[in-house]
Amino acid sequence: MAKELYEIGEVPPLGEIPKKMYAQVIREDRFGEPAKAFQIETVEVPEIGPDDALVLVMAAGINYNNVWASLGIPLNMVDVHRKDQGDTTNMHIGGSDASGIVYKIGSNVKNVKVGDKVVIHCGMWDVNHPDIVSGKVDPIVHTTNRIWGYETNWGSFAQFTRIQAHQLLPKPKHLTWEEAAAYMLVGATAYRMLMGFSEHIVEKDDIVLIWGGAGGLGSMAIQIVKAMGGIPIAIVSDNEKIDYCKKLGAAGVLNRKDFDHWGMLPHWKDTEGYNKWLKGVRVFGKALWEAIGERRNPKIVFEHPGETTIPTSCYVVDRGGMVVICAGTTGYNATVDLRYHWMHQKRLQGSHFANDEQSKAFNDLVIEKKVDPCLSKTYSFEGIRDCHQLMYENKHPHGNMAALVTATKEGEGKE
Ligand code: NAP
Repeated sequence: MAKELYEIGEVPPLGEIPKKMYAQVIREDRFGEPAKAFQIETVEVPEIGPDDALVLVMAAGINYNNVWASLGIPLNMVDVHRKDQGDTTNMHIGGSDASGIVYKIGSNVKNVKVGDKVVIHCGMWDVNHPDIVSGKVDPIVHTTNRIWGYETNWGSFAQFTRIQAHQLLPKPKHLTWEEAAAYMLVGATAYRMLMGFSEHIVEKDDIVLIWGGAGGLGSMAIQIVKAMGGIPIAIVSDNEKIDYCKKLGAAGVLNRKDFDHWGMLPHWKDTEGYNKWLKGVRVFGKALWEAIGERRNPKIVFEHPGETTIPTSCYVVDRGGMVVICAGTTGYNATVDLRYHWMHQKRLQGSHFANDEQSKAFNDLVIEKKVDPCLSKTYSFEGIRDCHQLMYENKHPHGNMAALVTATKEGEGKE
């Protein structure tokens, strides 16, 4: 007889789905700092549809998106689930990265079977939409795209997670459960940014400037650029992070605290303010050339801080080069001096997660050991709130974090 609820760390018999599960839940009445927003609750295990699968979560990866979900900004995700998906649970179970074991599959699912060991990419979309079926629209650009465990409920901060089966990829055999849970969201995002926009993909000897080189996205970007034969130059805020980036493959590293021209671009009519900014950005540009070792500008700037850095990114990127951006951690207003933008024919490209092919291509780099997941620290299921709190305070360790869910101790899961 199937148990109604298993304790954290207990592995149900393969294919047996209990009625209930433990989950780290965010609710609207406790939106705020992650330490307060997350609470462990017992909830129903979700039903799956014909194209879905249910995965027993062995370990979950930690990402910045559930810091935003805790805060309830820029969007109230509980309300998004309610209005967008008709979800009546009034809760948000986050978690957009995981490693685990397939426990149930829908009637249409052919790419996996019960018992497969998997990692999960976080791109969901209407798999039956004619534009997607025909290949007319890249699914991650399609209006139906949603990030699992952020824009949808039933993410990986629970014993079971509901996903669309196309999100599943083989777990790299050489990795532990927690290592395998740590890399996919940031890695596939970085892969699309660097390899997804033709004319501006990383090729041999291309210089790529990478903000937050010791962070989740940055640590993946450095390794991808290196794997493609490019020259990664990283920016950090602490000299302690310099060695870390160099070990990952950065050819040069700058400390942004050595410069002071950050923030929005002064208005072009404010001659004094603008000239002060120009002087500051030129000092930065010169330091960049020194780090590169020659007077060459980056072909690609890998952006995510947004408001405070984008004027610099758009200034230093090479003629005909691309600033590719997937976030605005410091703010959403991009100020750009359009005179340089059009005369030097630069490209400012938005990017958001990745499609199935890009997620697979990135997972293959991990399987081939060309990219390390950069797992810095592993937390317990209870500790999911603590690691998000550290991330909120920008006090989290370098690289990526994960939390054990069904795996009981670190180091398990290698095959
Ligand atoms: P992370 O591990 O916290 O890294 C972010 C890095 O940004 C930090 O290491 C920090 O490095 C740097 N940073 C912080 N403040 C800065 C500032 N004022 N100027 C320049 N750099 C600054 O986070 P992550 O996982 O890489 O994610 C970064 C952002 O991307 C988040 O907002 C996340 O939500 C977003 N994201 C979006 C997508 C997407 O698909 N759209 C996917 C993944 C992540 P230093 O302090 O060392 O400079």
